[in-house]
Amino acid sequence: MFGMETIQYNLPQSRIPLAWYNIVPDLPAPMAPPLHPGTLQPLGPDDLAPLFPMALIMQEVSAEREIEIPGEVRQIYAQWRPAPLMRARRLEKALDTPARIYYKYEGVSPAGSHKLNTAVPQAWYNKQEGVTHLATETGAGQWGSALAMACAFLGLDCKVFMVRVSYDQKPYRRALMETFGASVTASPSNTTDCGRAILAQHPDSRGSLGIAISEAVEVAAKDPKTKYALGSVLNHVLLHQTVIGQEAIEQMALAGDDPDVIIGCTGGGSNFAGLVMPFLGRKLKGKGHARIVAVEPAACPSLTKGRFVYDFGDTGHLTPLVKMHTLGSTFVPPGIHAGGLRYHGMAPLVSHVINLGLADAVTVQQLDAFAAGVQFARAEGIVPAPEANHAVAEAIHQALEAKAEGKPRVILFNLSGHGHFDMQSYIDYHAGKLENFEYPEEEIAMALAGLPVVP
Ligand SMILES: *Cc1c(COP(=O)(O)O)cnc(C)c1O
Repeated sequence: MFGMETIQYNLPQSRIPLAWYNIVPDLPAPMAPPLHPGTLQPLGPDDLAPLFPMALIMQEVSAEREIEIPGEVRQIYAQWRPAPLMRARRLEKALDTPARIYYKYEGVSPAGSHKLNTAVPQAWYNKQEGVTHLATETGAGQWGSALAMACAFLGLDCKVFMVRVSYDQKPYRRALMETFGASVTASPSNTTDCGRAILAQHPDSRGSLGIAISEAVEVAAKDPKTKYALGSVLNHVLLHQTVIGQEAIEQMALAGDDPDVIIGCTGGGSNFAGLVMPFLGRKLKGKGHARIVAVEPAACPSLTKGRFVYDFGDTGHLTPLVKMHTLGSTFVPPGIHAGGLRYHGMAPLVSHVINLGLADAVTVQQLDAFAAGVQFARAEGIVPAPEANHAVAEAIHQALEAKAEGKPRVILFNLSGHGHFDMQSYIDYHAGKLENFEYPEEEIAMALAGLPVVP
């Protein structure tokens, strides 16, 4: 007889969390407040009101440990949640490692990534406050697809500024957004002041998340019917993602294992925070011991090479100043295929946690990330998103370290999305056309020289 080994640790629909977990009240030190870019004074809720509905602004500044998930949002979550926790047994065998590797698979969402966990509540709260139109940016297209789907479910109009390099590389992502009813514009575009200003200086601009954010914010600021939605970085976005870690805690208990290391890739920090914050909250209360590792691309290393200072969230300097690890808001990252990791900054909450020494950060080169993704696909059958490949690479690295030590190690990572719309990057990888990018030292030094001066 062939003894069956457990691969999936699944929860019933009734175990979708009832509340999001806010780690802020459990942290040993408070976060630095966001500042008004004009007065340099801490921001008040009214300052954000042109861009966001009040319910999300209150979540942004909340000190409540638990924030109830609205019933209708939970009902929509049930379309794909609870997401599975998988034991990567075939990968373990391929690596011949004593490590036990688990991954939380967020690619089961209809939009293909974890982004839908926040797209749905963001659309829902906007709708409650009478908003009819949302404007946003998208890098790789994952966030745009998620918000487009959420808007289709909730009957809102959705306008997406898509970073030019992704717009050209990923026509199927654009088609998906349009299928959900969104309108998609390549950024920088000539439809906004900010886009026109960038194009005047750099007619061939590949775009960046920082530029696309400026365009979407400008549209929302100028039109009273339109609000803005952001797919990462902000506290309320990271909060919504904590369904991932809360489910994973229960699923690891089902597996009878406690992670020694928890890994997430970091672009703006949301999938990482979503998985790790619930575990970190427990650890701060003395439960669990996992080391927490954020993985970023070597070409855009905000956590490992950036400064922890106040900076703008966008290139056009329309957003508040937030204290975060940043490479400078004018830095345009190299055109790596992990478009979702091409952001000059990092979530203030993730930056704060790293600064407190509660988590570590490492970098991975593009070719190593794809090599890991291909190895993972051949063992586990899932083709990871290029962003998620960074987490896979670190998980494999940890498993090989355990092998070298000859000791078991329990590894948990977030497989934040699948790569089915990113196959052009795999085509390029197989054709030997992908390259590693050296750390763009001069450009980053220039961008850092332009940091705003905050006394
Ligand atoms: C957007 C995205 C990321 C990066 O964004 P975070 O906010 O850092 O999570 C990572 N993985 C996938 C699949 C994404 O779509």
